[in-house]
Amino acid sequence: MHQNSLRRESALFESADKCRLCGAREHPRPFIEAPDAHGASLVSDETFTLVRCVECGIVYVDPRPGPNELKSYYKKGYYGGSGVKKALENALSRLSAAGKRRLVERYKKGGKILDIGCGDGGFLSAFMGKKAWKVYGIEPNIEGYRLSKEKGVNVFRNELSKCRFPERHFDAVTLWHVLEHTPDPLKLLKEARRVLDTKGILVLGIPNIKGLGFRLGKERWFHLDPPRHLFHFDRKTIRAALKAAGLKPVHESYPFLEYPLDIYHSVMNSFANRYLRMGLAVPALALSLGAKPLLSLLRSGETIVIACRKDKKDAG
Ligand SMILES: [Zn+2]
Repeated sequence: MHQNSLRRESALFESADKCRLCGAREHPRPFIEAPDAHGASLVSDETFTLVRCVECGIVYVDPRPGPNELKSYYKKGYYGGSGVKKALENALSRLSAAGKRRLVERYKKGGKILDIGCGDGGFLSAFMGKKAWKVYGIEPNIEGYRLSKEKGVNVFRNELSKCRFPERHFDAVTLWHVLEHTPDPLKLLKEARRVLDTKGILVLGIPNIKGLGFRLGKERWFHLDPPRHLFHFDRKTIRAALKAAGLKPVHESYPFLEYPLDIYHSVMNSFANRYLRMGLAVPALALSLGAKPLLSLLRSGETIVIACRKDKKDAG
């Protein structure tokens, strides 16, 4: 028997009996079969099934690896890399972090900021050394945790709910590309709301499955990343989730500095032929970089950024 099916039949994988976001009991529609790929590279020969809820439209991996099994899909070196490419990525990531800081500061000038899933601490670096801010992070990944600590972030290596922060403890809470990774996005949003001050701001970023990149790259879409990305939102589904968690959007944008090469990779990933890839690399690069600002304006960008206030009504 193929290794895939063996693993799938084991207790290491779990199937949903209802929608993992809205709880609908109706059977979800098959959405896409996709290989275990991260960015431009295939990680293993495994494939994953994604389904779409007929009620709320959320796309999710099903069956999915159980909590312990999931960890094995985050290979060492997730934050690694070196050389010119890494240097360029770091420079862009600093630029992107500065833009994200400005967005937070549009709503909050200072206080305690918590970045959930802070990774290597890249975003929080933009707040370091600023007197107005006290910087906190949560990162379960050991590599990310260490890198954040090195940068001076007050970092916790635990789930948010297990950190036991008091209610309304933070003035700003951020979730950059975290919701798609978490087994229960609604639970996380509700807990993030709980620790957020009444006048605080919550900012999140997620991939947009309704963007152009998915249409071009399909099962090799740059942001599909199965099984690490367990959920895929669009403008409508993220707004429904936020509403259910008691959060009210006050800002929505589609940044283009965050992952500058995402569309390019989605296009290139879709060509198997090596010569075709070589021939199309430059036009694909020009097209993807050129299209990003326009797609942002059309709300078809590859990633969505939403800032929210706490809704006055209780989330229940
Ligand atoms: Zn649903």
